[in-house]
Amino acid sequence: MTRPEIEVRGLHKSFGDNEVLRGIDLEIGQGEVVCVIGPSGSGKSTLLRCVNLLEEPTEGQVFVGGTEVTDPDVDIDAVRRRIGMVFQQFNLFPHLDVTGNLTLPQRRVLGRDRATAARIAAENLARVGLAEKADAYPASLSGGQQQRVAIARALAMGPEVMLFDEPTSALDPELVGDVLAVMRRLAREGMTMMVVTHEMTFAREVADRVVFMDGGVVVEDGSPERVIGDPQHERTRHFLSRLL
Ligand code: ADP
Ligand code: MG
Repeated sequence: MTRPEIEVRGLHKSFGDNEVLRGIDLEIGQGEVVCVIGPSGSGKSTLLRCVNLLEEPTEGQVFVGGTEVTDPDVDIDAVRRRIGMVFQQFNLFPHLDVTGNLTLPQRRVLGRDRATAARIAAENLARVGLAEKADAYPASLSGGQQQRVAIARALAMGPEVMLFDEPTSALDPELVGDVLAVMRRLAREGMTMMVVTHEMTFAREVADRVVFMDGGVVVEDGSPERVIGDPQHERTRHFLSRLL
């Protein structure tokens, strides 16, 4: 039995006296795709941010690839290098072209030389179907293309796991499909992924498991058929009925 790639144990997070995560336990195996769904304010983003230490948990443990990232002695930068994160807002560097966006973090954070960084940038742009946009500036790209560049930028760092926080929520509807297609491909390639999304078709078709959160706890955790198709809890049914 191999260890889970991501393991969350007894995770609590408070902001002041607002307890946002109230004891989360979660295991994600290598190559598994887990979609996290739930109402706004239920703690989905905070959970992702605790996994890559953008937020410091109040209590509990998080392990990534067997390393306890919540260990106070851990090298946070080394941990973050192993975890790619994609946000709703693409956060590209506007003054750099696409290649520059992909090479800068590789050079700064990983110390790769220019030629190596450029080669890996090109490989990952091809992976998201944007090889021809290498010299374009972000402002000249559609939102969907910008998000695919952001995914390629994260992939160029060679992460072991990818976290996505509502990656298609800021996109015009006609641009959502291209981004989801890239994520499907990543899933097929065996990437371990945690995806906060409201895209139920994606969750049904791509996720190995769906986690429904409400009020800072995991209410249901199971196959998409179970959690979306046959929810056991009233709160899940209520949430899903409002999406349809
Ligand atoms: P979701 O992603 O499910 O919509 P969030 O994790 O963003 O939920 O937020 C859950 C709760 O935590 C909200 O009530 C939000 O106001 C609060 N929260 C999130 N981040 C912070 C922060 N940095 N400081 C204070 N409160 C926060
Ligand atoms: Mg959120």
